[in-house]
Amino acid sequence: MAGQKKPWVETPLLESTALSRAAGCRVFLKLETLQPSGSFKSRGIGHYLQRALVRSASPDTVHFYSSSGGNAGLACVYAARALGRPATVVVPLSTSAFMIAKLRAAGAAEVLQFGKSWSEADAHLREVVMLEEARVGGRVEEAVYVPPFDHPDIWEGNASLMEEVGLQLRRDGGGDEPPDAVICSVGGGGLFNGVVQGLDRLGWSGTPVLAVETQGAESLGASLRRGKHVTLPGITSLAKSLGATRVCDRAYENGQRANVTSVVLSDAEAAMGCWRLADDERMLVEMACGVNVALCYDGRLERVLARRLTKESKVVVVLCGGSNVTVGMVVEWRTRFGGVERAMPKMRDVPSAETAPNGVAT
Ligand SMILES: *Cc1c(COP(=O)(O)O)cnc(C)c1O
Repeated sequence: MAGQKKPWVETPLLESTALSRAAGCRVFLKLETLQPSGSFKSRGIGHYLQRALVRSASPDTVHFYSSSGGNAGLACVYAARALGRPATVVVPLSTSAFMIAKLRAAGAAEVLQFGKSWSEADAHLREVVMLEEARVGGRVEEAVYVPPFDHPDIWEGNASLMEEVGLQLRRDGGGDEPPDAVICSVGGGGLFNGVVQGLDRLGWSGTPVLAVETQGAESLGASLRRGKHVTLPGITSLAKSLGATRVCDRAYENGQRANVTSVVLSDAEAAMGCWRLADDERMLVEMACGVNVALCYDGRLERVLARRLTKESKVVVVLCGGSNVTVGMVVEWRTRFGGVERAMPKMRDVPSAETAPNGVAT
C-alpha cells in the first residue's frame, strides 16, 4: 500500500547516571517516551493495526476506530497515519481540551465527544459510529475497532521493546547476563504482558519483573492479593493511564508467575517520580510512568526486591512515557505532593537533591 511507514521507532536504552546514583545500582531507562505518539503504545497498537491490514480482504477501505482519549487513542491515530489509513476517535465529554487538541493535531479523521464515561463513549463508538455505513470511492468502508490493551497482537508489538533491550544491553556494555529487575507499570496489562513475552523470547524468563501500579488503580495488585481476578469498583488514582478497573486475563495469569512482584505506590510517589525525572534527566512523563521512576529513590528498590543491590546490579526501567502531561501539571504536583520528597534524605551527586521541592536551588 502507498505511503506506509513503521508506526513505531527503535528507542535508545540510556544508562542514567543520576538515577544510578540514587538507586545504588546501574539504572537503564528504555526511552519509550520518544515514540511518535509519546508512549510505548505506538508499538502494541501499531502492530495491531498492521496485522489488521494484513488480515483485511480490502485494506485500502479500512477505517480504524478507538474510544480512548488517552495514549491509546493517540497511538491509534499516529499509527493509522503512518499506515496511510484514517482513524476516528470517540472520547467521553470529560476528556481534556488538551488531549483532544493533541488527537486532532496528530491527524485524526474525526474526534467525537460523547457520554459521561469511557464506557458510554465506547458503546456509542461500537453501536452507532462504527455501524454507520461510510463509503470511500463508492466502496463501503471496513470499520476496525482498536482495543487499548487486551489483544495478542498488542502484546506481541509491546514485546519488541524487551527484545530491543536484550540486544542493547549486550551491544552497549550491559553484558550478557539478564538484568536483576525490569520495572514496568500496569494499567490493563498490555505492556506487562509484552514485557513478560519479550523476556521469555530472550531466554530470560526468570528475570524479576516489578509490576507497578498506583493506589486507586491497583487492579492487578488487588487481584493477586485476594487470589482471584477482581474488578475494582472505580478508579481513584490521578494516574489515569493506569486506570483499568480490571486487568486482562493474561495479565492476571502472568502476575502469578514466581518472578513477578506486584508493587503499589501512592499518587504522591508517582508524582515525585515525574518531577525528579524532569530535574535529573530533563524528561517529561505522566504519573503512569513516573511511578516506575519513583522506585529508584530512597531505598525503595531494595525494599521491594527484598535483597541488596550492588553497583554492578542492572535494573531496566520501562520509561513508558505518556502525553497527558505539561510543565504546569508537574509543578502543581510538586506543590501538592512535595512532602514525599522532603521526607527523603538528600544525596550528594543526584542533581535534583540540590533543589528544594519548590524548585529553588539550595
Ligand atoms: C497505557 C499506559 C500504561 C499501561 O499500559 P497497559 O498496557 O494498559 O497496562 C502505562 N503507562 C502509560 C504512559 C500508558 O499510556
